[in-house]
Amino acid sequence: MYLLTGENFGNFPYANSLVIEGSKRAVVDAGAGVGRLKPLVERGIDVLIFTHFHPDHGREAYLFQDAQWWAHEADAPAISNVDGYKRFRHYHKPGKEYLLHLEQSRLGVYPYGPVAVQFRDGDWLDFGSIRLQVIHTPGHTPGHCCLYEPETEILFSADIDASSFGPWYGDPVGDIDDFIASIQRVIDLNPKMLVPSHGLPITEGIRQKLEDYCSIIFQREEKILQFLRKKPGSLETLVGSGLIYRKIPEPEDLFRHFEATILEKHLRRLQSRGKVTVANGIYAAC
Ligand SMILES: [Zn+2]
Repeated sequence: MYLLTGENFGNFPYANSLVIEGSKRAVVDAGAGVGRLKPLVERGIDVLIFTHFHPDHGREAYLFQDAQWWAHEADAPAISNVDGYKRFRHYHKPGKEYLLHLEQSRLGVYPYGPVAVQFRDGDWLDFGSIRLQVIHTPGHTPGHCCLYEPETEILFSADIDASSFGPWYGDPVGDIDDFIASIQRVIDLNPKMLVPSHGLPITEGIRQKLEDYCSIIFQREEKILQFLRKKPGSLETLVGSGLIYRKIPEPEDLFRHFEATILEKHLRRLQSRGKVTVANGIYAAC
């Protein structure tokens, strides 16, 4: 088993892959870049595993048409066909359809295809000499999974990536509290090496780095409260104010959609805790 680093160190829109060479040959995720993945395809790959449905992890899945595709059952509908994908990202909603095309201009066309094997939490993925355990870690997406190799205590942690940006839950199907619980689950697993999809493997200070990563969620919430204490405002006034993205990336409409989705989740969470009220679409801090 080895790490195939994605182009640009696997930074978005690329992602690292894991290559498993057992009696079955498998690749985890297909977003490392065509030039890096093509030689693997030529050597023969039996299984393509998706850690979750996002395009930066599956953009090059079209190269693996001869392999079986495996994914968690909760994300399989968004991998199998475009309608499922649109539902997961709310691109099917009126006025939002064009966002799919914007996304495709940045990330390429997602190569939808049948998911032959749907796995669940705790399942063992058996490749002969190597077995990986599925650690279901929802929040980023409903079916987001990490893969654990217990002999070496290496965890392929996908988009629980301990990045300085922090956790990303910009899909309507993402969930903040699930994400917090999933980070805690990874901390409790106490892996010796954390191999995220983006960036380099981490061997030191894993717990601290994951705690810092998780704390960004609460820092965001505090920033939102500070903003609303100064002046109550609509969701539209919050988007683009530097609360999540310091500067909205291109294509701007797409990332404004993601930021609005993230902010809405925080506003709902703050409302449920009695920290924010809303009247006629105007949010105010309590
Ligand atoms: Zn992702």
